[in-house]
Amino acid sequence: MSVELGMPQPGSPGPRVPHAPDGTPVSWTDERFAEGLLHDTYGRVATDLRVSLTDRCNLRCTYCMPAEGLDWMATDKVLTAGEIGRLLRIGVEDLGIRRIRFTGGEPLLRRELTEIVTAAARLDPRPELSLTTNGLGLARKAEELAAAGLDRVNVSLDTIDREGYAAITRRDRIDDVLAGLAAAADAGLTPVKVNAVLDPRSGGADAPDLLRFCLERGYELRIIEQMPLDAGHDWRRSTMITAATVREILGAHFTLTPDRRPRGSAPAQRFLVDGGPATVGIIASVSEPFCGACDRTRLTADGQIRNCLFAREESDLRAALRGGAGDAELAARWRAAMWTKRAGHGIDDPDFVQPDRPMSAIGG
Ligand code: SAM
Ligand code: SF4
Repeated sequence: MSVELGMPQPGSPGPRVPHAPDGTPVSWTDERFAEGLLHDTYGRVATDLRVSLTDRCNLRCTYCMPAEGLDWMATDKVLTAGEIGRLLRIGVEDLGIRRIRFTGGEPLLRRELTEIVTAAARLDPRPELSLTTNGLGLARKAEELAAAGLDRVNVSLDTIDREGYAAITRRDRIDDVLAGLAAAADAGLTPVKVNAVLDPRSGGADAPDLLRFCLERGYELRIIEQMPLDAGHDWRRSTMITAATVREILGAHFTLTPDRRPRGSAPAQRFLVDGGPATVGIIASVSEPFCGACDRTRLTADGQIRNCLFAREESDLRAALRGGAGDAELAARWRAAMWTKRAGHGIDDPDFVQPDRPMSAIGG
């Protein structure tokens, strides 16, 4: 069996043979990858694609990037809009992708964003299209993106305290984010969701104000546990604000009742706030993982398929694509990449290794 599927993670030594979780070597040339959906060995099927459009960003969130930024990917390594469009078509038409979320880095920095959204909205069946953004510049782009076919947005805002925001993002840009949120709601990119990673330095004390802010404007707040995906590898489980702590902090100000609607593959556990209908979501990726229901597959800006945020191997679709591979080969490589997905992220395992790529270069 040949072993051309995987590419090592950036920075890791030498090529590695990709393996299924049971240790069997995997090759995309195996006939079982010639057709079908994106199955893994645990019975999960990926239908939700996260596409990173750039690794560049105009903020420097402490849990993601170092203050000085990172060495950005060389332009010729980043997939062109046409290459992305082709992979999205294969994903939707051949592999059963039904939801696409554009992310980064900061996806609004990608010049061809509107063009890419327009192409994705023309696919059949039309996938659900969303964007995760830090909100800078969204005020100018929201209407154009909605007209291009974007369905909704998640805007990252960790606190509404101006100084706290500047301390986390290392930029005094909260006004741009607030303007972006309002523009998204006006443009109908709803439900507008607000993503928040709480700063251990505040201990989460600013979370109730953030929830109040969201409730007053009809935004849906989702609080995310900080994961070991920071460029500095400074994450410590002991300082992370856990979902249990978030529930306790919010519970002192609001009545939280578990939302009985089926959760499906949604990462957020939802709670009705003060009896509803407004809700708050808590994403306990670390302390209460939901890997068993994961339906995600990821495409990085430089054309690598990752079957998990914490994957140790990647599959290089860019090299295959630029080497002249046809659609059937690209689809087979993608299927094989998903087959090697592990049962869970393994953050609690003694042999856990933080990915070399930080969140900004994977696409959250
Ligand atoms: N720049 C955009 C933004 O911030 O929304 C999109 C990319 S960002 C990597 C996507 C999401 O990942 C954001 O909501 C951000 O808060 C979250 N994120 C980044 N680093 C994280 C970490 N170490 N743990 C948990 N979430 C993280
Ligand atoms: Fe940029 Fe988003 Fe990372 Fe913050 S979380 S540094 S906005 S990519």
